[in-house]
Amino acid sequence: MEANNCCQSCSMPLDKPELLGTEKDGKKNNEYCVYCYQNGAFTNPNITLAEMKILVKQQMEKMKMEQSVINRAVDSLPGLKRWRLPKTAL
Ligand SMILES: [Zn+2]
Repeated sequence: MEANNCCQSCSMPLDKPELLGTEKDGKKNNEYCVYCYQNGAFTNPNITLAEMKILVKQQMEKMKMEQSVINRAVDSLPGLKRWRLPKTAL
């Protein structure tokens, strides 16, 4: 696998320490970004994979990313740790 981490919820690259999610005790979480995971919990615990796909697409379009890059990010979501759990599988 790639050495560089990405968020296991939204696939955003975690290439800066300030992008890492935080635990209750203030420690960094290396698997999730600060937008998905804060103070030891998901910021949006009830979001579905389908909703996350839409959210990621919208965010990346706002950032004027290339459509091919957006599609790749959206396609990678089902393989991420948060969405691999059977109960959240579509
Ligand atoms: Zn994230």
